[in-house]
Amino acid sequence: MKKYASCRNMTGNMQDENKMKTERINGERVKVMSKILIVEDEEAIADLEKDYLELSDFEVTIENTGDKGLETAMAGEFDLVILDLMLPGMDGFEVCRKIREEKNIPIIMVSAKKDDIDKIRGLGLGADDYMTKPFSPSELVARVKAHMARYDRLVGSSQKVNDIIEIRGLKIDKTARRVYVDGEERIFTTKEFDLLTFLAENPNHVYSKEELFREIWDMDSIGDIATVTVHIKKIREKIEYETAKPQYIETIWGVGYRFKV
Ligand code: CA
Repeated sequence: MKKYASCRNMTGNMQDENKMKTERINGERVKVMSKILIVEDEEAIADLEKDYLELSDFEVTIENTGDKGLETAMAGEFDLVILDLMLPGMDGFEVCRKIREEKNIPIIMVSAKKDDIDKIRGLGLGADDYMTKPFSPSELVARVKAHMARYDRLVGSSQKVNDIIEIRGLKIDKTARRVYVDGEERIFTTKEFDLLTFLAENPNHVYSKEELFREIWDMDSIGDIATVTVHIKKIREKIEYETAKPQYIETIWGVGYRFKV
């Protein structure tokens, strides 16, 4: 997988490439450990699974009831869930169904009964895999890695490659709709973001206020084109070092604005 950087430690051992993924934090890609949630009421089993997964450098959280498991799954950014079927309170069927309504992360369901596994398959709850207890922890780790790699390919392939516009110290993350100046985030309203992005995507092109108004506000410009002026002013306050001498959005007197590159 190209997305993962190969990790070699000081002794030169090749560490597993699956455990690390990259994530954007403050606009920068940093390596983070993949997070796994185990929902399992039998503590000995949960601990064993955790030990093996941690040996493969996954970050593991355990919940012992269905209700807590669901709550944690919804609140946290997990990369995969290992879900036991028979749980106190809400059972694994229900937890799986509810997680699936909100998230498309891989779910591996485990059960002590082969019959239950067939039942889960039949219900089409959206689990990605099923394992019958007892299973070997290394088998679990292997399946976790396989699902995570597959999920990552799916997510990776659906992301736009060209979602970042970077010009000098200005960085516009189009996917996350966030703007950074020298690595520091600036908070933008929807229209400010749309206007800045439009200009930055069409650099050195001079647009009149009317054109920008039509483009961003999506209606014929019977409205107030002074809105454009107000928004340009606000954007400049957020991205320019000196608003009087803008280095990004330049005013072309009597014509309009252009994004200077
Ligand atoms: Ca159980």
